[in-house]
Amino acid sequence: YAAKRGRLGRVLYASELPECTPQRLQLIGDLRRAIEEGRLRLHYQPKVALPTGEVAGVEALVRWNHPTEGLIAPGRFIPLAEQTGMIRPLGRWALCSALRQCRTWREAGIGVGVAVNLSPCNLHDEQLVPTISELLEASGASPGWLTLEVTETAMMEDPAHARRVLELLHEMGIRVSIDDFGTGYSSLAFLKELPVDEVKVDRSFVRDMLGSVRDASIVRAVIDLGHNLGLQVVAEGVEDGETAHQLARWGCDLAQGYHFAPPLPPPRFAAWRAGRFRSGEESGGGLAPLP
Ligand code: C2E
Ligand code: MG
Ligand code: MG
Ligand code: MG
Repeated sequence: YAAKRGRLGRVLYASELPECTPQRLQLIGDLRRAIEEGRLRLHYQPKVALPTGEVAGVEALVRWNHPTEGLIAPGRFIPLAEQTGMIRPLGRWALCSALRQCRTWREAGIGVGVAVNLSPCNLHDEQLVPTISELLEASGASPGWLTLEVTETAMMEDPAHARRVLELLHEMGIRVSIDDFGTGYSSLAFLKELPVDEVKVDRSFVRDMLGSVRDASIVRAVIDLGHNLGLQVVAEGVEDGETAHQLARWGCDLAQGYHFAPPLPPPRFAAWRAGRFRSGEESGGGLAPLP
């Protein structure tokens, strides 16, 4: 039982508190300290325009370099942050950090916009709108540089509230993007009613679109739907050139994925972008001709 003893010294039975393992409690404490001590980092993954290859923006993705466990993926600690309320300070930190970085890049002549992911709790946080106004002011960033990525599931919880918040943000000039489109409780009414600027076709559809007629149909349908509603369409998880080419042929506006670049720390993003300029990939050669 030693391994199952919680921090309070009491034996924790799996059936009683299935999620309260000592490891989990340890991780919660570590995450709290990492947020407080500013030890989380943002990596940035380019959103590339098709077919020109121009870098239209970047998505900020949080990384936690744990002192003993090494790099922990957000898939493991974002849910933990959501369950413990730490997602609020984490969300605030991510917005602050991404806006500052965007400002720094702009000053260096790197004219990219930045997208920040919001959890459902962030969207329903009363402080979200005032916090964003304050952070925009403090960082000297323009609202138009910021895109907020929210999921359909985040809006499902309280659609009326989500709509009010997104309308406020949109009126401030901030862009709104629907992340992982098609995987949540999709409702076309959201696209009709919400002030959305962008949809991101989920990676699960993009991944198999060359081999699966069904996936291809879904990807093409989302591209057409997005365009008919005047939205920009981004394909997530593009891992090869052939997929990028096909998306370009279908008229998809932007693509993101390992084919172009993984999420990179800021200096490496700047170097990657500079390298593409040099090799002319932004002057029409973004996609090599198909064989
Ligand atoms: P997401 O917003 O849908 O981000 C896309 C995920 O796909 C990222 O995983 C990215 O690294 C990964 N990815 C990008 N290109 C490829 C590719 O070509 N192939 C494959 N297999 N994967 C690719 P990551 O960084 O592990 O983030 C996972 C999720 O964690 C994100 O999904 C987002 O929902 C959440 N997340 C990340 N950062 C934040 C944050 O600052 N705040 C909140 N609330 N959530 C975040
Ligand atoms: Mg995202
Ligand atoms: Mg996504
Ligand atoms: Mg995702």
